[in-house]
Amino acid sequence: MTRVVVVGAGIGGLATSIALHRSGVEVIVLERAAALAEVELGAGITLWANAMLMLDRLGVGDTIRERGAVLRCFEQRTARGRLLTRWPLEEMGRRAGAPICAISRPDLHSALARAGGERVKAGCEVERFELADGSVRVALSSGSQEAGDVLVGADGLESTIRRQLHGAHPPRHSGLTTWRASVPYDEAIAPDVDFVAWWGSGTRFVAFRSGPERLSWEGIVTSPPGGEDPPGARKQAALARFEDFTEQVERMIDATSEEAIFRTDVVDRRPDRHWGSGRVTLLGDAAHPMTFAVGQGAAQALEDADAIGRALGESGDLEAALRSYERSRIARAAHFQTLAWRLARAGTLESRPAQLVRNAALALTSPIVCRLLEKDITLPA
Ligand SMILES: Cc1cc2nc3c(=O)[nH]c(=O)nc-3n(C[C@H](O)[C@H](O)[C@H](O)COP(=O)(O)OP(=O)(O)OC[C@H]3O[C@@H](n4cnc5c(N)ncnc54)[C@H](O)[C@@H]3O)c2cc1C
Repeated sequence: MTRVVVVGAGIGGLATSIALHRSGVEVIVLERAAALAEVELGAGITLWANAMLMLDRLGVGDTIRERGAVLRCFEQRTARGRLLTRWPLEEMGRRAGAPICAISRPDLHSALARAGGERVKAGCEVERFELADGSVRVALSSGSQEAGDVLVGADGLESTIRRQLHGAHPPRHSGLTTWRASVPYDEAIAPDVDFVAWWGSGTRFVAFRSGPERLSWEGIVTSPPGGEDPPGARKQAALARFEDFTEQVERMIDATSEEAIFRTDVVDRRPDRHWGSGRVTLLGDAAHPMTFAVGQGAAQALEDADAIGRALGESGDLEAALRSYERSRIARAAHFQTLAWRLARAGTLESRPAQLVRNAALALTSPIVCRLLEKDITLPA
């Protein structure tokens, strides 16, 4: 039986473990965190129809529907609240074959961990890999080793496996940083629609329902790389950057505890033409990190997991199966990387004329954008 070693038990690694197990392949997932609960961090994640179809295939779609929220409509507004566009998400999801949902990242991760977590070995930090006699060996920081027939690097943005394959290159900074949080749902602070984005000058604030009792928000602002808030002043910093926005935004930030707010720079990497070589490949953020502007980071990792599960389940020629997996995925992931980069950069516009053009474009192109998006999130049967 083929044995696959997956590095990283994030959303991509866990989904891969479930997909491979379902294809009759033996799999072990090595995770550097001491316990899976330590990986369950973050705020809200939107799951477009393609992600939900993948989660259904992995057998966890119903849990996600239960713990998350179905998003029926998406509105884009100016910072002061004037409506620019309204997207009919419910209809788009119906036509694409699955609802458009959102969930908190910890809830998504724990649903996958319940379905595939027993194949994870936590507290195993991989330092490097070595190819030998048709097998792949990985060296752990503890000094021990693990071996398999195939190695999948699902170890995220700063992937060790990627570094060994492609060299050490820093991620590309988009010019933006973000504060994100999930808070208990409260009608007094929640926006009047499920999913809304307010556009300002080099600033954007997004809020969405992420569960029956949860609300998530992201405040995105222009900022040089590596910016940090003084200790205990994260909430204050977010409030200051959004003070010219509608009061709804201030209420949401104000209702969030300091500890619930995460700050992360918005980065990606340029799309690659090749991911792996020999018996080694990459998956998820290790292969195609993208800005979260189009909400496809987790979705693309889930699509990777499905594709590699099929490829390794169907072919006895392991190297050919890995190259076939990569061929089926590289162009699509690159498409979303490029789109996410452009949309993130649109959020950096600060001059008044540029904002007016952007707002007009958002309003005028909305029907076309919805049609293109719907095509993007519809998967072949
Ligand atoms: C803490 C965190 C919070 C996030 N929050 C959000 C969010 O709120 N909204 C959103 O849209 N996206 C968020 N993302 C990104 C989103 O989850 C990813 O785009 C997507 O799920 C792809 O995940 P992945 O499994 O490829 O990578 P990751 O989620 O980064 O998982 C990689 C895993 O590999 C492990 N690892 C790394 N190096 C090694 C090593 N050498 N040896 C062993 N294990 C290793 C890491 O500990 C991690 O568990 C977040 C990511 C992280 C890590």
